[in-house]
Amino acid sequence: GFKCGIVGLPNVGKSTLFNALTKAGIDAANFPFCTIEPNTGVVSVPDTRLTALADIVKPQKLIPTTMEFVDIAGLVKGASKGEGLGNQFLANIRETDAIGHVVRCFEDDNIVHVAGKVNPLDDVDTINTELALADLDSVEKAIHRLGKKAKGGDKQAKAEMDVLEKLLPALSEGQMARAVELTDDERKVIRSFNLLTLKPTMYICNVSEDGFENNPHLETVRKMAESENAIVVPVCAAIESEIAELDDEDKEEFLSSMGLEEPGLNRVIRAGYELLNLHTYFTAGVKEVRAWTIKKNSTAPQAAGRIHTDFEKGFIRAEVVGYDDFINHNGEQGAKDAGKWRLEGKEYIVKDGDVIHFRFNV
Ligand code: GDP
Repeated sequence: GFKCGIVGLPNVGKSTLFNALTKAGIDAANFPFCTIEPNTGVVSVPDTRLTALADIVKPQKLIPTTMEFVDIAGLVKGASKGEGLGNQFLANIRETDAIGHVVRCFEDDNIVHVAGKVNPLDDVDTINTELALADLDSVEKAIHRLGKKAKGGDKQAKAEMDVLEKLLPALSEGQMARAVELTDDERKVIRSFNLLTLKPTMYICNVSEDGFENNPHLETVRKMAESENAIVVPVCAAIESEIAELDDEDKEEFLSSMGLEEPGLNRVIRAGYELLNLHTYFTAGVKEVRAWTIKKNSTAPQAAGRIHTDFEKGFIRAEVVGYDDFINHNGEQGAKDAGKWRLEGKEYIVKDGDVIHFRFNV
């Protein structure tokens, strides 16, 4: 599955948020939820398209796609030098596809702040410095290793060197590699290095109940995030953990009393999913309407392979209706009548929202 690691200084609300995430039975019956390991939560990705499809198809079951959140606790200053659980911490981040960096943007004198006062930029900097140092170390070692090969005419080594050298000055200054403009090709070349500060990142600003507007802490994080190609999601972890405790009925009442349509947690999940740069396609039958996750630019057989590896091997064709067509023509038959039902072959690149029926040999 695709993973988003949750990081942040101690006492910023990581556990509170993570617990809310792992309890979030967004709609308990329809959005199944399970926990694999204590520090890993698999959450349903809320997608209104799924409900819209179900309104037409009226299936027995609705199955959303999922993503994993991993609670990566235990960062201390000096982690990049192997202090505390530093190395383990960094290794855990390396395995994730994206990072959710929780930042304390709420004031509360009762909650001790590790650095004495609430200062989001300093907090972010403490963690990002460790990440940048770890990357700097990997990059310097790699450049050293690749140097000879590149001189000897190894083209791959040369290409990797070129990109790493582009990142070196930024990392030396403690900046994030993702702040450096790279082409898609350049990104591809160095993908295997799994650099921490190149991972797509969202700053999850933990604000107080009334801290969504006119909150200077939030604004400073927004500015900083913009400068390094990251996004910001404000949330109040304390409220989310309360909401997560409620049963469905109370939850709805609570949300509407606050003038909200959904828990703020949904925004965190969706933003995490968007960071992963994925596409969703749907299968829509009377037994179940289901969302499936694929990498962008996947072919039809690759998409079929998400359902079952045999589907990829035995792929014959895909019967496709675009999402808007499916909705506008009230389902598959309507789309067919309107000439919006397509047969696609092996080369077809699946689009976000496609409603697909695969034909295959077994
Ligand atoms: P962690 O160390 O980052 O995992 O932080 P915790 O989730 O354990 O939270 C640290 C303390 O801050 C706990 O006492 C929480 O109840 C409190 N806390 C977390 N989120 C909020 C919030 O949004 N508002 C307030 N006032 N307190 C919070």
